[in-house]
Amino acid sequence: MTQADNTGTDTPPAATNRPAAAELVLDGMGVARGIAIGIVHRHDSEAVTVLEYRIATGRVEPEKIRFAEAAEKAGRQVAQLQAKAETLDGSAAEELGYLLDAYQQMLRGSRLIRGVQRRIEADRINAEAAVQHEIDQIARGFEAMEDSYLSARVADIRDLGRRLIRNLTGRPYRPFQVLPRNAVILAEDLTPADTALLDPKQVAGLATVLGGAESHTAIMARSLGLPAVLGVAGLLKEVRSGDVAIVDGREGRVILNPARATLETYRRKRADFLRGRRALSRLRDVPAVTRDGARIALQANIELPSEVDSVLSAGAEGIGLLRSEFLFMNRDDIPGEDEQFAVLKELVERMGGRPVTIRTLDVGGDKLARSLGIHPGPNPSLGLRAVRLSLARPELLDAQLAAILRASALGPIRILVPMVATVEEMVAVRDAMGRAVKSLKRRHLAMADPLPPLGVMIEVPGAALGADALAWHADFFSIGTNDLTQYTLAIDRADETVAHLYNPLHPAVLRLIQFSAEAALRARIPVGICGEMAGDPRFASLLLGLGIRELSMSATNIPVVKQRIRTMDLVAATRRARVIMDQSDSARISQLLDSFNEGEG
Ligand code: PEP
Ligand code: MG
Repeated sequence: MTQADNTGTDTPPAATNRPAAAELVLDGMGVARGIAIGIVHRHDSEAVTVLEYRIATGRVEPEKIRFAEAAEKAGRQVAQLQAKAETLDGSAAEELGYLLDAYQQMLRGSRLIRGVQRRIEADRINAEAAVQHEIDQIARGFEAMEDSYLSARVADIRDLGRRLIRNLTGRPYRPFQVLPRNAVILAEDLTPADTALLDPKQVAGLATVLGGAESHTAIMARSLGLPAVLGVAGLLKEVRSGDVAIVDGREGRVILNPARATLETYRRKRADFLRGRRALSRLRDVPAVTRDGARIALQANIELPSEVDSVLSAGAEGIGLLRSEFLFMNRDDIPGEDEQFAVLKELVERMGGRPVTIRTLDVGGDKLARSLGIHPGPNPSLGLRAVRLSLARPELLDAQLAAILRASALGPIRILVPMVATVEEMVAVRDAMGRAVKSLKRRHLAMADPLPPLGVMIEVPGAALGADALAWHADFFSIGTNDLTQYTLAIDRADETVAHLYNPLHPAVLRLIQFSAEAALRARIPVGICGEMAGDPRFASLLLGLGIRELSMSATNIPVVKQRIRTMDLVAATRRARVIMDQSDSARISQLLDSFNEGEG
């Protein structure tokens, strides 16, 4: 996929009959470079579009039965969620339990059910429309009550209504199915799961009111090559679907209803950007070698299997981070071992013998998976997530490890464990791996011999500080600078209100990176970086200067980082890194890094 495909080249038509609105320029955070020019599609994750039609008198009873079946199915789905909730610990389980109980009560002969049946009978309308009207009426009643608890229940009622409508239409939640050509998606917020559903062939770019630069939505936009601006205050105030919009992901700017001259300027900018990108793509087949001969491995991070083509065309040497969460997104059930194996098999085969590092499930934080019935808890970033969740739900980890081990028979694979904080967690994961090996042997299923390396993601400050001990239990390290920065500085990476404070050049973050890299070098295990820092050419000299020789990033960034490496002198970069590590002030660090990047060539 190239940017040329998704930004289009022709002038977007004026899509509405409204009088021409004035141009509006809004600033936010540019998180994925490139320029999109297209037609606005306002995404409201809460909305479901329901068709209303009259039914014949003879259809009333069958329609009521159709509704009863949908409600019964909803009851079974909620019961499944209840079973999952019981396996959770502590207050999260309790709170989720109450909520699901309330759903069950609403589904059993409540006012909602009776109301829908009455509407089908009296108004002679289809069940979907009856559910929508009834939910709207109940919600209006709740909202009017001056009780914050009750008005908060409106969201639950609407959620249940959407479930009933999905069951009736037989359609799972699939937003973005009807989009204008060159759609520019504007939303209050987009979850990573929503973003995963965007098709870069149809979508030109996106902008949201909420979200930080290192949020998973931002990462996903970069991976898909979609220009994106997040944290745009006032974005949705005036705009309507069908308006024309420009998203400038480099400057962090959104322009609504651009004037003719503005459109012309941005068309030129877009052409320049695409020309630059094409020029860089010529570096695809040359190695990432510094001027003084150090060879650096550049690999790609991927969120979705559909990215493999761009990984190969960017010249990546392998996949350095496969975020396996996609397997669990946008579905109500959990993929079993065979299903996971089938997906991994195809991916490993398409990578044609290049290494693939598969990370075990890292849901939690801003990456929630509906299918797991995870309740976010009071502080999702610090809660039951990633390896903690895998160890709390051994059936999840066992199936995932078995699927990965089976795929290891087909190509070089490494297994990476997210959010590790203690040696005990690694010991437990290795035990689980032993269990999976036994199970595969019993079933006469093939796997790699020797077994795939098992690595630790260093992304919790405690793991960085305990890196020497962890190195005894790990075959490699991969430093996740996104979370490492978030947890070291206590800055939520997805919160636009503190995004200006998120700084991977803070001396504390750099010391933790240095400490982890040195621990790996002492233990003679490979160490790389797979956080977003790896994909920014500005940081390359510093990371290499700290001893890192493997970088994994969004495939779209590989050419710019390679270009930087090929103009760099590693000895000089190492010297500058030493000077930088003596500093205590991040502004001074920035200055020293930028002057090195500009001067040294
Ligand atoms: C990280 O935290 O740096 C990382 C690579 O993992 P993720 O962004 O998926 O949390
Ligand atoms: Mg992480």
